[in-house]
Amino acid sequence: MSEHRKVIIIGSGPAGLTAALYTARANLEPLVFEGIQPGGQLTITTEVENFPGFPEGVMGPEMMDLFRTQAQKFGAQTEFLTVTSVDLSKRPFSVVVDETEYTADAVIVATGASARMLGIPGELDVMGRGLSACATCDGFFFRDKHVYVVGGGDTAMEEANFLTRFASKVTIVHRRDELRASKIMQERAEANDKIDFLWNTAISAYNADEHGSLKSVTMKSTTEDKEWEQEVDGVFLGIGHKPNTEVFAGQLDVDDAGYLITKPDRTATNIAGVFACGDVQDHYYRQAVTAAGSGCMAAIEAERWLEEQGA
Ligand code: NDP
Repeated sequence: MSEHRKVIIIGSGPAGLTAALYTARANLEPLVFEGIQPGGQLTITTEVENFPGFPEGVMGPEMMDLFRTQAQKFGAQTEFLTVTSVDLSKRPFSVVVDETEYTADAVIVATGASARMLGIPGELDVMGRGLSACATCDGFFFRDKHVYVVGGGDTAMEEANFLTRFASKVTIVHRRDELRASKIMQERAEANDKIDFLWNTAISAYNADEHGSLKSVTMKSTTEDKEWEQEVDGVFLGIGHKPNTEVFAGQLDVDDAGYLITKPDRTATNIAGVFACGDVQDHYYRQAVTAAGSGCMAAIEAERWLEEQGA
């Protein structure tokens, strides 16, 4: 026996929970599967200062609790469960969590993207405590500090340039001696007096102080047999993002970088009745407020689509 819902929302960042709020207020009684990181990427940041309506700032996890509470208030059901498979080839759609199948007339995908991590010792411990994967979110906290940015692509160049608004110095640590970034982004970084480069270098471990905050990193040369410890004020990962789309592979259309493709100015995917919002379909803005906005769009589109179907 499977449980049937009008709307199932997969993901619980600002996009998913905003979609939940709107569909709940439309009496669609949405069921939200929160996934492996309930609340999404904001739960690994510290203070959010750029979400309108919070002039004093708000802690990322707290903000996501508020999003969830607001959606629940109107009847959204949220579950700390992770979807293991979906079948979008027939209606109602099938959404499976381990052994349990749920069916839905409409599905809203808001599974987000995850910043790529180095996968080295200490990384999860110092995340949000000196280590960040989002300059726009956390750069402000590094005023007059010397920060390090890891990566050699456009993300790293963009983060480094942005960080020079606050930091006294930004060092780009790259594992090769050649950048992958586009010419214009390279030139901009090279022309910035506050930016310098550490070539052929990798970070191999993070070291925390007695409060658990990042104090130094272990660096090693990628070309010579050399390893050393470097004190750091902060480290930003700029090695790219990975949209969380594995569970939809072969069913929903993706672009070259793996992001879900939605219709221009819409959240509709290639499958009628399946909508996508937030970072899983946006590699350009990647902000909480834009994700929330697209969650609202997905909810409105889903509601109108269901109405058209007479569901
Ligand atoms: P990219 O894949 O282009 O670059 C990732 C960088 O991180 C590479 O330099 C890579 O090194 C490095 N890297 C990856 N894994 C590791 C690791 N484990 N250790 C150390 N270094 C690592 O990703 P981006 O996010 O930079 O860009 C993704 C796409 O988004 C691109 O198409 C880009 O053009 C676009 N973009 C555009 C922007 C703009 O135009 N404003 C801004 C940001 C992104 P290596 O080079 O050795 O492989």
